[in-house]
Amino acid sequence: MCGIIGYWNIDNEALPILSGALKKLEYRGYDSFGFATLNNGQIYIEKQIGKISEVKYNNIPGRVGIGHTRWATHGGVTKQNSHPHKDCTGKIAVVHNGIIENFQELKRRLVDEGHKFLSNTDTEIIPHLIEEKLASGLDLKQSVIKISKILKGRNAFIVLDAETNEMIAIRNGSPLILGLKDKEVFIASDIPAFLDKTKEVIYLDDGQLAVIRNERPEFYDINTGKRIIKRLIKIDWNQNQAEKGSYAHFMLKEIIEQKNTIVAAINQDETQLVRVAREINNATNGVFFIGCGTAARVCHIAEYIFSKVANKRINYIPASEFENYKHFLSPETLVIAVSQSGETADVLDALKIAKSKGAKIISILNVIGSSMSRISDYTFHINAGPEKAVASTKATTSQIAVIILLSYACSGKIKDGEKLLMELSGEINDMLNPRYQEHIKNIATILSDEKVQNMFIIGRGINYPLSLESAIKIMEVSYINAQGFAGGELKHGPIALIENGTPVIVLVADDNDKAKILSNAMEVKSRGAYIIGISPDNNNIFDYWIKTPRVDSVGSAIANLIPIQLLSYYLGVAKGYNVDYPKNLAKSVTVN
Ligand code: GLU
Repeated sequence: MCGIIGYWNIDNEALPILSGALKKLEYRGYDSFGFATLNNGQIYIEKQIGKISEVKYNNIPGRVGIGHTRWATHGGVTKQNSHPHKDCTGKIAVVHNGIIENFQELKRRLVDEGHKFLSNTDTEIIPHLIEEKLASGLDLKQSVIKISKILKGRNAFIVLDAETNEMIAIRNGSPLILGLKDKEVFIASDIPAFLDKTKEVIYLDDGQLAVIRNERPEFYDINTGKRIIKRLIKIDWNQNQAEKGSYAHFMLKEIIEQKNTIVAAINQDETQLVRVAREINNATNGVFFIGCGTAARVCHIAEYIFSKVANKRINYIPASEFENYKHFLSPETLVIAVSQSGETADVLDALKIAKSKGAKIISILNVIGSSMSRISDYTFHINAGPEKAVASTKATTSQIAVIILLSYACSGKIKDGEKLLMELSGEINDMLNPRYQEHIKNIATILSDEKVQNMFIIGRGINYPLSLESAIKIMEVSYINAQGFAGGELKHGPIALIENGTPVIVLVADDNDKAKILSNAMEVKSRGAYIIGISPDNNNIFDYWIKTPRVDSVGSAIANLIPIQLLSYYLGVAKGYNVDYPKNLAKSVTVN
C-alpha cells in the first residue's frame, strides 16, 4: 500500500514525470498525494487530498524529486498527514511506505528534545531522526543506515537532501525497484510507474539502500555498510499491458485478458512442476496453502482441487491466521504461498515463521522479483502481466490454473492437466464475447436497484469456496453486502434473511453436486428469493441464467468465476462507483 516514486535527471523538470508515475501507482493508495522537488538548494512541497488523476495541483520546480500516493495507516486523510514530510530545518524530505511500529516512543523522545511535528503520521519521525543523526556528524547514508536499525516494522522510504543534492532509497520490508535509462534514474514501489520510460530495472532487496547523486546509483548493504554490486534486469512487460487502452476500466481489461492468461499460466517449466509435485507428495508433515483476501479463497479452492485430482489432503489458512498453526511446522512441512504481488505483508510474516521452523516454501506469484520469490525454494510465476485493478480477476484464475496443473503433476498426469486447461481456455475465449458481456450487464443493472442491500451466493463442492470469492468480488466493487455459503448450510441459519426479491446466485457445475445445489436453490426460491443461475444448463428455477461451459467441477473453479467477475464489474459501474479503486482498499497490501 502507498506508492512511492523518486526521480533524478539532468535535463527535464521532475514534476510531470513524478505525477505521471504516481498516476500509475494509484492502485496502491489514493486518499491523498504529494511531491517534493529540489531546486537551488531548496525543497519545494506540493500536497493535495484526493486522487492525483482527479485533483489539480500546483507546479513546483526542480529536476530531482520524490512523490507519494497515500493509503493512510497512521493519521487521518488530511493535507498535513499526506507525504512528503520534512525535518525541522526543511532540508530533508521523506516519502514512506509501511508502518513504523515503534513510532510513538520515538516521537515522544524527539518531541521532548524540541522537534516540531506537523502531522499525526508515523512517517514524520523519519526526517527528524535523520536531522538528529546529521547534527551528530554522520553523513546522509550513515544516518539512514543508523535509523533503519531503530525503526521497527516493514518499511521502505526515499529521502531527499537539499544540502547534498542526494536522494537515498532504502528497503526494509516494502518493495522498491530502480529503473535506469541513459541520464535518468527512477525508484518506485512498482515497475509500471516507469515502464513507459525504461525496462532496465534493479530490484532492491530488504536491507539494501541506493544512493542517487548521478545517473549511476550506488548500492549498499545496511548490515555491513559495504558497497554492493546489483544486477540489471531487462523485463519483458510491455507498456500496453500496463495501460487501460480503449477499455473504460482496468478491471474490464483484465477480465477480458483471461482469453490469453490461462494459456500463459500453463507455460511452466515441467521439471520444476515434477520436482515440486514430489515435494508435495513427500511432505510428511502437511502442506499448507496460505494467502490473503481473494488469494486466501484461491487456497481454499486448492483444497478441493488437490482432493479431487490428486487424492491429497492439503490445508489452507488465511496468512494472517498462520501463526496459530506454527506448532505444526517442521522441516517436513511444505508451505505454498499464493499472492499476486509477492509483497503481501501478512503472507511475508507467515513465511518468515515457516522458514524459522525449517519448512520448505513454494510460491505462486505474478510479480517477478518480488520479496516472496526471493525467500521461496521454488516459485511459479503465473505470467498474467501487470494487474492494476484493485479487485483481482486474471491473477486469480491464473493462480487457480497453476494449482490445477500442480495437482495433476502430483498424480503424475501433467499432460491431462494441460489438456483440461487448454480446452478451458478455448471455452473462456468463446465466453468473453460482447453479447455475453451485454447479457450480464443487463442482469447487473437490475440488481443495482438500491433496494438490493443483501445478496447471497451458494455453491457446493469446489463451488463453495468459489461462492466465498464471489462474495468478496461483489462486495469490493459494488459495496453490496454479499455472503457466500455452502448450499447445504443456508437452511441452518442464513435462510432467515431470505425475503421476497432477495437475489441468490447459484453456482452450478456439471458434477455430482448438481441436483443438490438445485434443490438448495429451490428451498430459497420457495421463500421468495430471486435466482440467478450460473450454470451450463438452464433450469426453470432460474429467474436469470448465465451460461457457463460444460466443464467438470475442477474446470468450473475457473469457468464460474468469469461471470461473477463481469457481474461485479457491471454492478459497480451501474452504481456509479470507481470499480478500479474501491473505497478503503488498495492493491499490494504491504501493511499488517
Ligand atoms: N504509515 C504511513 C502513513 O500513514 C504510510 C502508509 C502506507 O504505506 O500505507 O502515512
